[in-house]
Amino acid sequence: MTVIGGGLAGSEAALAAARLGVRVRLHEMRPVKMTPAHRSGNFAELVCSNSLGGEGELQSKGLLQAELRSVGGAIVGAADASKLPAGNALAVERDEFSARVTAAVREHPLIEVVEGEVEAVPDGIVVIASGPLTSDALAADVARLTGSERLSFYDAAAPVIAFDSIDMDVAWRAGRYEQSADYINCPFTKDEYLAFFGALEQARSHTPHDWEKLEFFEGCMPIEEIARRGIDTPRFGPMSPKGLDDPKTGRWPYAVAQLRQEDREGRMWSLVGFQTGLKWGDQKAVVNLIPGLESAEIVRYGVMHRNTYLNAPLVLESTLQLKADPTKLVAGVLAGTEGYLESAATGWLAGTNAARLALGLQPLTPPAESMLGGLTRYLASANPKGFQPMNVNWALVPELPAEINEKTGKPRKLGKREKRPVMFRRGLNAFMTWAQAEAGLTVTPPPVRA
Ligand code: FAD
Repeated sequence: MTVIGGGLAGSEAALAAARLGVRVRLHEMRPVKMTPAHRSGNFAELVCSNSLGGEGELQSKGLLQAELRSVGGAIVGAADASKLPAGNALAVERDEFSARVTAAVREHPLIEVVEGEVEAVPDGIVVIASGPLTSDALAADVARLTGSERLSFYDAAAPVIAFDSIDMDVAWRAGRYEQSADYINCPFTKDEYLAFFGALEQARSHTPHDWEKLEFFEGCMPIEEIARRGIDTPRFGPMSPKGLDDPKTGRWPYAVAQLRQEDREGRMWSLVGFQTGLKWGDQKAVVNLIPGLESAEIVRYGVMHRNTYLNAPLVLESTLQLKADPTKLVAGVLAGTEGYLESAATGWLAGTNAARLALGLQPLTPPAESMLGGLTRYLASANPKGFQPMNVNWALVPELPAEINEKTGKPRKLGKREKRPVMFRRGLNAFMTWAQAEAGLTVTPPPVRA
């Protein structure tokens, strides 16, 4: 089988397949042809931060790390071996990390490394893992395979909020005028709007790399850019209150921030028209000034950058196979994930499933309770309208069944610190049972930190 791209996803895919005894040809274009962000010819180079996310049983990334550790994931293994002290985060010494992955790939007897750009997806079983900066020729061929309207080159995303962190005593569900009540609306008084606008003006904007600079189309103008045009511009644009009667006052508020449903279960909601390149700390501060979102948990931050990714729900199965050609699998950012760890995890699944195809076995999807299962099921079933790459978060896995308070007979709302360790153990156990019983893999329970 073939893997295209020796990044986070491709390296993991090649090593996962080789571990199952399948011969792999891994193509990497660096150092012959560099991307605008990579600096070396090493595999799994971290192009920006050196962190693979928060660790432990309160963190969604912590669960994904534990799942990958339990099946001997190569990326998380290299990260553990080159770990730096960073509080609760899995941060690594980046050169050592990528040197370890490079050595594991190059020294594996079943992996042949081929340097140079792949311009067209070859025949046979292939994992396409060429990342956010896929070369132009290959991107054109992937577009041919999937349909050109299903491949995007820029990510202009708005923050996505966990539903259970929205204060529904303040916000209400409604559509404009007579439209169906598909939106959650957060109402502003004039004073609240002025405070919000002031914070937005002050917020430091992300400075894009030269190659990242975007032509802003009117339809996906960042909210901070809209605000730069004048104090009332947001209120006459995405924050218009028109046609939205606040049930508390019976009148239109001074301004409104609207949220639109992102997933089928309604556990993730994105802020409409709020695509933004603001730094994450500032972004959170600005979002928390929206009435009803004072305690909002942002499950995916807004971004504005160059990114090559497929509209996953239209083209991918939850096994990461292309619907149009099941011998082709996609992993990493190209498959609609965001983040180093998510790329490695989808690489592991794509590599495992590609090897299964080569061995005449059925490709698999991990269980819904596991973070990897939640992520790949989301990719295959998210709303394709305006689909944007996704990080892992707790809204991707099922909620715990409601506990009934014996005294009141009403459901008891569990706090994050109470429910997340339970969801963590449920997910890890489901994943390990699946990996052993269904995928036939050797599983080692990983150490779990609180
Ligand atoms: P990559 O790791 O980029 O691997 C893809 C590989 O494919 C590359 O080595 C590339 O050279 C190769 N390739 C491309 N085209 C071809 C071709 N035609 N033939 C052969 N090889 C090819 N995520 C985070 O978690 N934290 C961050 O701080 C972060 N910062 C980012 C900064 C930037 C500028 C970008 C663009 C993305 C960032 N991401 C970050 C998002 C994402 O997690 C990383 O890009 C991650 O490396 C993606 O993994 P991947 O395997 O999909 O792609």
